[in-house]
Amino acid sequence: MPLTIRQFPCLSDNYGFLVRDDASGRTACIDTPDAAAILAALEAAGWGLDLILNTHWHPDHAGGNAQIQAATGAVIVGPAEVARLAPLDRTVADGDAVDLGESRFDVIGCGGHTLGHIAYFDPADRVAFVGDTLFTLGCGRVFEGTAEQMWTSLQRLAALPDATRVYCAHEYTASNARFALSVDDDPVLKARADAIFAARQRGEATVPTTIGEEKATNPFLRAPRLAAGGQGADHEAFARIRAAKDQFKG
Ligand code: ZN
Ligand code: FE
Repeated sequence: MPLTIRQFPCLSDNYGFLVRDDASGRTACIDTPDAAAILAALEAAGWGLDLILNTHWHPDHAGGNAQIQAATGAVIVGPAEVARLAPLDRTVADGDAVDLGESRFDVIGCGGHTLGHIAYFDPADRVAFVGDTLFTLGCGRVFEGTAEQMWTSLQRLAALPDATRVYCAHEYTASNARFALSVDDDPVLKARADAIFAARQRGEATVPTTIGEEKATNPFLRAPRLAAGGQGADHEAFARIRAAKDQFKG
């Protein structure tokens, strides 16, 4: 069923998201980077809050759970790892589904950035909230999992329909684009990077992106092709690109 999505900056480079099921008026927030900013956005919209959907346990994703729950009574849903840091009412894992009124989100396990990281995908509306797994022209750092696990997770997201709108949790795109241009001279990437630099100059968000755009230009999804002449499996090509990004200064 149709969703209304409100997106707003939080902290230095996170995004907050409010998601409302139009049919029922039930509303969720995706992660809790900044309780005050999220509560202000709810008040500005005149909405209550029914669900908090966490993608992973990091403080810039679950740190506002307690304060937002205290203010709204929302039920907190997320991977088990969230309980390390914050309150959690319902644990979900790969293959589960979460209802928001008449809308439904499938839970996709995508560990790597953290071991328990999940994404939320609404197949009816083709909307995905992917936390710190896939970014516009980038991907999350591999803190807890292996490069092979992260590659598998990115492939699961890449298998979603091309038109899927992908809501990433951070605005990292300008620096991602500078790195992408350092490893890929594809003209489609060059044109996209130019558009991104111009959009950032105007102060515009580069989130959401789409699966189709990322498959065409994201160096992490294109790793096996960019590593032409390199040896080994696709996830090894991914690991080399990820390591290069970790070292990249620019
Ligand atoms: Zn994170
Ligand atoms: Fe984050």
